[in-house]
Amino acid sequence: MTSRDLKLRLVYPRFRKFLDGHDRLKPLIQKYEVGNYTMPPPLGLPIIAALTPPDVELSLTDDNIGKPIDFDEKTDLVAISFFTPQATRAYEIADEYRRRGTKVIMGGIHPSCRPQEALEHADAVCVGEVEPVWGEILDDVRTGALKRMYRPKGEYDLAQLPIPRRDIFDGKDYNWSAHLVLVTRGCPVQCTGCPIPLKEGLDIRYRPIDKVIEDIESMPFKQFYIIDDTVMLPNKRRIQKYLLDLMERTKGRGLSIFLASTMMMFPDPEFYRKLAEGGTSSMYTVFGFDRLSRRLLSADCTPSEWQAGIDLVRMNEDAGIHFFGSFGVGTDGQDAGVFKRIIRFCRDARIDLAEFYIETPFPGTPFGKVCEDEGRLLHRNYEQWNTGNVVFEPKGMTKDELLGGFLQLWEDFYEGIDERRTLRTFDGVSSRPI
Ligand code: SF4
Repeated sequence: MTSRDLKLRLVYPRFRKFLDGHDRLKPLIQKYEVGNYTMPPPLGLPIIAALTPPDVELSLTDDNIGKPIDFDEKTDLVAISFFTPQATRAYEIADEYRRRGTKVIMGGIHPSCRPQEALEHADAVCVGEVEPVWGEILDDVRTGALKRMYRPKGEYDLAQLPIPRRDIFDGKDYNWSAHLVLVTRGCPVQCTGCPIPLKEGLDIRYRPIDKVIEDIESMPFKQFYIIDDTVMLPNKRRIQKYLLDLMERTKGRGLSIFLASTMMMFPDPEFYRKLAEGGTSSMYTVFGFDRLSRRLLSADCTPSEWQAGIDLVRMNEDAGIHFFGSFGVGTDGQDAGVFKRIIRFCRDARIDLAEFYIETPFPGTPFGKVCEDEGRLLHRNYEQWNTGNVVFEPKGMTKDELLGGFLQLWEDFYEGIDERRTLRTFDGVSSRPI
């Protein structure tokens, strides 16, 4: 078989958005456009597409847009990339293809963290970064010698990263108005709910800024997400310099940049002013991963810790950066008072855009390992592992208190919020109708 003969189908499996099934929240979702808007798809498949030689016939199935899958199609390889809420559906799809004799390879965060489970449904699994081994995988398909497991030997140099082929998610099926941009990989911090250190390693690797700019210039949109929250880590001079150097290059271009962070962020108003000058319009901030936010949500938070949290929110807002809080509930160490504390913190800090999620013991995370070791997983129906359901035995409250408190949080937070303010910095982010 020559490369010209090779036919490849990429599959992005369907998953339940995290408020699906919670009907009592529907009025809020519609009024405030929160909770169920979908991000542009992750970069895994567009990167694979960019690494694939042009003479390989490549096509994509996005199972989320409801198009039927032609399992009888003759193809040399089906490559499925997925995270945990997609896993049940990914396995169904793989089983159907393999029943017809089609080879299936799996990659992405879930198969990387549970390769043996994935191998029950796939011919091969790629563990970790796919870029260093993708050429080898295609060669092995050509020679009929696909291996069971591919695992890169070293860490991938992000200077080599091609511009992702985001166009494989065909424009006519979507109304994206923003894309994702990758700037780093790896993280030394090892937060309890995060799989990045295990999957990408403990050293931060940087994508050269020239390459990031080339990528930004290739996109059709003026707004984009930098989802690597490592860029906001405090006490790391190199990362701060990297981010500020990037902002020097993005300023004056009329961009709208959404950054992500935990509450481990640099407490310096001047820093946020420079980020805003560079085009940063929104700071998506996860609570529940890092020490400060865990203290803020705990019963014995001190007044100075409380004020430090408020100050960080206000530094963003005062610089013109819309603060978007994402609050995790159900973590070990929280009690049933956490719901009221979150509302009080949001009111004190004048946060007007927030989402709430239930801690989930994702594979590859320290919290996932603890729950597994302690026998606290309730099931492995991964469709429900979407941060909108209780899938583990919590410690500081009952399962009913956790779910009830989570739903009530949404209602309590949005009561009295002016809906014109919630997505004031977002411009049609939704990609699909709710
Ligand atoms: S949440 Fe962010 S800071 Fe924490 S380990 Fe993950 S990437 Fe690192």
